[in-house]
Amino acid sequence: MPWLSQDVIALAVRNLHDAAILAGGSVTPKPDTLMSFNFEVSSQTVGGKRYLVRLQKSCVSSLTTTLRSLISCGCPGYTISLAKSGADEVCKHCGAVLLCCLKTHRRPSPLSLPIPQPRPIIAQGRAPLALTDAQPSKPGPEPAAGAAVPSSVFTDYDSKGEEAAELLKGGGRLLSVLSAKQAQRMAVYLLSKAVAHATLSAFTFDLLMVTEALNEAAARGVAVKLLVDGKHSLGGTTAMQMDRLDLLRDHGVEVYLTQGVSSTGIQHSKSLLVDRYFMIGSTNWTNSSRNNHELSVLIELADEGAIAVETRLQYMKQGGKLLTKAQVTSSQALREERKSRPKSVEPKSDRYATAKRFSIARSRSLNRV
Ligand SMILES: [Zn+2]
Repeated sequence: MPWLSQDVIALAVRNLHDAAILAGGSVTPKPDTLMSFNFEVSSQTVGGKRYLVRLQKSCVSSLTTTLRSLISCGCPGYTISLAKSGADEVCKHCGAVLLCCLKTHRRPSPLSLPIPQPRPIIAQGRAPLALTDAQPSKPGPEPAAGAAVPSSVFTDYDSKGEEAAELLKGGGRLLSVLSAKQAQRMAVYLLSKAVAHATLSAFTFDLLMVTEALNEAAARGVAVKLLVDGKHSLGGTTAMQMDRLDLLRDHGVEVYLTQGVSSTGIQHSKSLLVDRYFMIGSTNWTNSSRNNHELSVLIELADEGAIAVETRLQYMKQGGKLLTKAQVTSSQALREERKSRPKSVEPKSDRYATAKRFSIARSRSLNRV
């Protein structure tokens, strides 16, 4: 299923969290019928209801139709409430089956499905090497007999409390702690290995080497997205930002202008997701960030971690608008106009009035001693 990605799943599955739990052992392949691959998904409720999920065999070629016409479930959620909504959304049982299919992409499983292939390579040249192939995971050393299990600081954590974070059991593995220069170079490396998708989030952006690496990935057929702060991109102080975004847009990168949690907030995260590798920290995608002490981390995501990151990026993208050519033009004109403005502004006559008054009062009080 070349079209199947974490993006597709995150967009279409109503309850991704539950789907991920069900994918962890509640899906059982059943014999195929003429038109479909069949799966039984046991529900989380105490009664242990089982639902049959049918995946049309035509799904192996391409997603030319709605997702709901390819996969269906007998549960009330799928057949009643989601059907009413009219959106192309599926239930958690379908989500669990899709996640299992996605997993076979990484690790062959007993599921009777063909292993999905990465997106087709458009440009000529060597096929990008999947990092997963280059770095086979080795089993770690066995713990010494009688080794104490480290007690977790989170045993008392109130996961239902206000602003509680969701704690993952197996989110992934920390691969590196990076400085600004290392992080930016790593971004270029990871993008050169991207197979299926890459998403970069930025507040400030002017780095040419990352721009080119994103464009090259897009040219190979990787789905490349950029989530940038709308206001800063259109009229902020990073001089080259719109020129870079324009270049990305021209190369088929989807550039989304986003905002913060509310309209007064900003998109301030600086992250890069390349397939299963996630780099995040304080490093900006700018030249000036290279002079700073920045701190970024690179994580190899496990399934649970990948879903958590995808879900968060999806949330950040919501309400974002694709950058248009008209916006590029007007933003570049605005920045040109600013450049031609005189640098120094006549100081106001009373500019130092408060400071003067303060220093006069201070010298008087000192003289009095
Ligand atoms: Zn269902």
